[in-house]
Amino acid sequence: MDTKRRKFLKIAGAAALAGIGAPAIVKLTSSAAIASEAVQHETAAHGEVAAATGVRLGMVIDMRKFAEQPELLDQAIAACNKVHNIPHFPDRKNEIKWIWKAPYANVFPELESIHKSEMAKKAPFAVLCNHCDNPSCVKACPTKATFVQPENGIVAMDFHRCIGCRFCMAACPYGARSFNWQDPRPFIDTYNAEFPTRMRGVVEKCNFCGERLALGLEPACVEVAKSAGAMVFGDLNDPDSEIRKVLDKEFTIQRNPAAGTKPSVYYIV
Ligand code: SF4
Ligand code: SF4
Ligand code: SF4
Repeated sequence: MDTKRRKFLKIAGAAALAGIGAPAIVKLTSSAAIASEAVQHETAAHGEVAAATGVRLGMVIDMRKFAEQPELLDQAIAACNKVHNIPHFPDRKNEIKWIWKAPYANVFPELESIHKSEMAKKAPFAVLCNHCDNPSCVKACPTKATFVQPENGIVAMDFHRCIGCRFCMAACPYGARSFNWQDPRPFIDTYNAEFPTRMRGVVEKCNFCGERLALGLEPACVEVAKSAGAMVFGDLNDPDSEIRKVLDKEFTIQRNPAAGTKPSVYYIV
């Protein structure tokens, strides 16, 4: 474990112990979520895919709201990039994506039709890892570098365990993972010392902001988009949570349900 990573774990753990931030959010995770890598990995290393019990985090993306305020999605993407040291490579084909924009036809190809709404025709859709309940990426990973955190259902990564085989990328039906073909560090616009950087040959993806949850904060993208109601985040297993209230009220769809991965991200379109 390098010094930066040690410092990061220390900050996150201390803050969680000190109860900094909203208790409701802290309840959704723990310092162990950050130490994802250290603690859960022990479970995963013994060949288990940890079953989600209790809390299962999920997200609702209301595309109607993003379509009304197109700048909001750019701001949410920028917030994620900033807190997670996501590099911007000049060559777009090497792009590292945690949350990004894609056309409806790419996000929901199985629901494509000739006569679709103006929003589906024109608005870019927000896409990120679905933190699936039955994640094919986890099953494909030979080193358990990607695993489910049983306390909240987040599909996490241990960058240090990743050998860059990219089996997880092939297994993910959503293209939610990116590979560092080159050293990302020189391409980080604003360095955040509280989040680890990655290295060449490592896969990465959205982590549902586990490090922020442990500090009592909401995911960075949600913080940007929630006032407009464009993103709602919370415990899918709690019938009284805001996200469940939204899901009870609105008709939602998920990406490629036929893949059987059971996404935790829902869309209102
Ligand atoms: S969206 Fe892909 S990377 Fe994310 S948990 Fe599901 S299968 Fe894994
Ligand atoms: S690239 Fe890394 S995370 Fe993906 S399957 Fe290989 S070791 Fe696991
Ligand atoms: S939940 Fe966090 S890591 Fe995932 S896309 Fe949003 S800001 Fe990025």
